[in-house]
Amino acid sequence: MPTNTYMELVRQLLRDIPDFPKPGIVFKDITPVLQSPEAFAEIIDHLAQRYADAGLSQIVGIESRGFIFASALALKMQKGLVLIRKPGKLPADTFSAAYDLEYGQDEVHIHKDALSTQDRVVILDDLLATGGTLGAAASVVGQTGASIHELAVLIELDFLGARAKLSDYSIHSLLNY
Ligand code: AMP
Repeated sequence: MPTNTYMELVRQLLRDIPDFPKPGIVFKDITPVLQSPEAFAEIIDHLAQRYADAGLSQIVGIESRGFIFASALALKMQKGLVLIRKPGKLPADTFSAAYDLEYGQDEVHIHKDALSTQDRVVILDDLLATGGTLGAAASVVGQTGASIHELAVLIELDFLGARAKLSDYSIHSLLNY
């Protein structure tokens, strides 16, 4: 099992932007990571290896940075890609769940017919802060009847304690702060 040392290049490239988008928030900027094909591949290879035998049918990504990792993983694993989106973006009937952000409030949606009880998925986002987003994402996936194998993020902010709030789920993070 790769450890966080394995992600050293990713950790080096990840950039802290203080006071963005508002004072007191240290924003974890993944854009330099994405600009390195080696670092991006390290992330996707790690996830593909982890879920190789998980019996997944679809990979679920959360708008918008979750899409980046979910789409690359779906393609690598030859699975389908399901989108969880902000309100007003998905054209067909949706299930939804509201949540609090580290900054602000929002809601996520999924197409009602995107998944069924036959599906087994991993839900991906870039970062786990308070856990509101991932919790709401898990809720909408749950409403479709699909089983959730794991919730996965590139970065987990341990000090915000989201893991305790999401104790119904297995959570995998590649980098912890
Ligand atoms: P939360 O719902 O509090 O777990 O927040 C997670 C979502 O907000 C993720 O989709 C992140 O993209 C974004 N986010 C929250 N805090 C940060 C942060 N410090 N740096 C970068 N993104 C963040």
